[in-house]
Amino acid sequence: MPTRLRSDRIEGTGGLLVVHGGAWDIPDSALEEHRAGLRSVVESTPSILQEVGQAVDGATEAVAALEAHEAFNAGYGAMLNQDGEAELDAGVMDGDSLEFGAVAATRHVARPVRVARRLLDEGEGRVRMLVGEGAERFAEAEGMALVPNEALVCPREQARHERVRAQVEPDHPSTSFLPGASPLGGADTVGSVVRDPAGRLAAATSTGGTPFKPPGRVGDSPLPGAGFYADEHVAVSATGWGEAIAMVGLARDVRERVVGGAPAEGAARRALRRMQDRVESPDGEGATGGCIVVTPEDAAYAFTTPRMARGWCTGGEAHWTV
Ligand code: ASP
Repeated sequence: MPTRLRSDRIEGTGGLLVVHGGAWDIPDSALEEHRAGLRSVVESTPSILQEVGQAVDGATEAVAALEAHEAFNAGYGAMLNQDGEAELDAGVMDGDSLEFGAVAATRHVARPVRVARRLLDEGEGRVRMLVGEGAERFAEAEGMALVPNEALVCPREQARHERVRAQVEPDHPSTSFLPGASPLGGADTVGSVVRDPAGRLAAATSTGGTPFKPPGRVGDSPLPGAGFYADEHVAVSATGWGEAIAMVGLARDVRERVVGGAPAEGAARRALRRMQDRVESPDGEGATGGCIVVTPEDAAYAFTTPRMARGWCTGGEAHWTV
């Protein structure tokens, strides 16, 4: 019976940005890189919040900055699928309007969260989620440059891919490693939740998915209610084993608990505990993950993995830790 569950409340009123850079057993050798990636984003938060104005733009641009950083499994530096390609998913939601945009299995956009943001702008009655080539065609029509897949592949992930390939049994070609469940595994999905100075909430999540996933595999990250969710009560971004997060609808579970009166930290803890109790992972343990949460008055993070990269900025003060 797994018992690990770490959490904390994040203090601060007014404008607030919280980010995560994935929940898993982040190795000691990768800590510095993760801290640097978090720091680069939370230190620029005051300008992110001032320049973009609205929560949804702050959430998008914080995730776009994390996608650009090699440390994380999103954008450049994403983990590779079984074909050795980066295949990216992202979603963003505006708590004010309930509009969301999402893309999945994209192979030629460097900042998938910005494509998701454009889909959000499509507005009422329009398409909100596009996958694969359809998402790429939309991005191109919106004036965003497409990139060759190799431009998203970093040497660290190329080397990981080759190590995993050498270990996978040839008769199990559909093997996909769970985040953190393999010594070669990992997660490093990124996400953000924002409360802007006017009190509007937004959430965004972006990922390369699980390492060595079968091509076409989509987890929780681009699914509203699972990997992200925002309304007037709460904004949530999740990370961890995507299939389990989707099974319990983790982001919506946190939301229902907040609406039921739980503080952000308690809601995140109980939702993660429920996922652990209800979904068994192949290693016989309960499913693990983490999330960040912001409400109009409250904010918190929680995780059941050994580590979660996280940072936040409020009142001009930035914090980051792994
Ligand atoms: N949730 C992501 C996925 O399953 C992985 C992660 O959070 O690291 O695609």
